[in-house]
Amino acid sequence: MGNCFFCKMANGEIPTNTVYEDDDVRVILDINPVNPGHCLVIPKTHAANIYEIEPEILSKAMAVAQKIAVKVKKATGCDGINILQNNEEAAGQTVFHFHIHVIPRKKDDKAFTYKTISMTDEEFINIKNIITEGD
Ligand code: AMP
Ligand code: ZN
Repeated sequence: MGNCFFCKMANGEIPTNTVYEDDDVRVILDINPVNPGHCLVIPKTHAANIYEIEPEILSKAMAVAQKIAVKVKKATGCDGINILQNNEEAAGQTVFHFHIHVIPRKKDDKAFTYKTISMTDEEFINIKNIITEGD
């Protein structure tokens, strides 16, 4: 992807605050962190999102996210970590090159949460049937 700046950052063509690199991924500090130590795991090959990424690259990226989570936890003394991965604008994706957020959290930092809805038994059965249809 010639014009993708995450491709360029992942492949070292644009300077980044890199905290880890291997043949498949680069991990950088997010420029607009939720908390200090907020990292992005970025595959070196382009895929826009979870729908398109090769499963092997996804597995490698997630294994690296695990390593980084352990390191960030030790380094920052955070109280928790969110692993976040956004797909499409409606879900908050702003950069359309797949990446995994590793976000250190402090108790009561109130950085973000999500709201839930309530559903009837019928609605649960209905959505279950829709999702599993054709399996
Ligand atoms: P998302 O909203 O999941 O697509 O996340 C994109 C993330 O990339 C945001 O958290 C941005 O702060 C981060 N970001 C954008 N540009 C840069 C950059 N040049 N260096 C580091 N992080 C960046
Ligand atoms: Zn890209």
